[in-house]
Amino acid sequence: MKRTSLISELREIIAQEKGRGRQIALVPTMGYLHRGHLSLIEQAKQTGAFIVLSIFVNPLQFGPNEDYSRYPRDLERDARLVEEAGVDALFHPTTEEMYPRPMVTYVEVGQLDSMLCGANRPGHFRGVATVVSKLFHIVQPDLAFFGQKDYQQYLIIQRMVSDLNLPVKVCPVSIVREEDGLALSSRNVFLTPEQRMEAVILSKSLNEAERLIQAGGQSTREIEKLLRERITRESQGVIDYVEVRDAEDLSEVTDIIRPVVMALAVRFGSTRLIDNKVVEV
Ligand code: AMP
Repeated sequence: MKRTSLISELREIIAQEKGRGRQIALVPTMGYLHRGHLSLIEQAKQTGAFIVLSIFVNPLQFGPNEDYSRYPRDLERDARLVEEAGVDALFHPTTEEMYPRPMVTYVEVGQLDSMLCGANRPGHFRGVATVVSKLFHIVQPDLAFFGQKDYQQYLIIQRMVSDLNLPVKVCPVSIVREEDGLALSSRNVFLTPEQRMEAVILSKSLNEAERLIQAGGQSTREIEKLLRERITRESQGVIDYVEVRDAEDLSEVTDIIRPVVMALAVRFGSTRLIDNKVVEV
């Protein structure tokens, strides 16, 4: 596996592979890798493309009172994992390499970025869209893999690519969960044993709500109410939001007659977890 923290070196590696006619697949991450990330790599491998995995904890997407400085990091462990998983090149730039000067140019994906996670984390998606756009320009991938764990992020990137005619195919990957249903996240390490047990309520209540929707007759308000009640009754989690929205554009819906996404963010102590489920009707 090739490994570099320099944009210029990565560009040389990629130019060589493109010269050989290889397609390039990008898997952007913030590191502290788990099976969710590995699933993105597996999907990328199936395309036969040359796989570039980036690890960069992007300061631009963290608010002033968020967990940027304590976000978990372990580059050497990550490097071993991705090498075993068959990644071809690991790109782990420093903050100075990505942002040598204060940024004045940003990518903003309007509408989609101010609801759900965007309402609670102002500027978050501007940071995400900007760094992903930078990575797209650095790597110039044919394909890029994003997990549906971050469903809103996936839609935002897809919309950015479409609006700006970026020549990259955005490939979604299903959520990978623990055996008890908790969606894998680098932030799960911050949960106390008690919070870890309680956090199961997120996926449990989403599954229950899915069954109710499939059985028919429920409005989005009723489903949101049920989710809120279940989470507050069975955990000490503090709800940031619980929303049932159109699965394609996150617009508000009243009656569930098209695919919807049930999306939620809940704080357990200082750890904020997100989860979602798409329901086809
Ligand atoms: P992160 O390192 O948390 O920024 O995540 C990097 C990529 O991995 C994003 O596209 C995430 O959506 C994806 N990802 C994170 N956790 C999971 C998971 N449990 N299942 C599937 N994809 C995931």
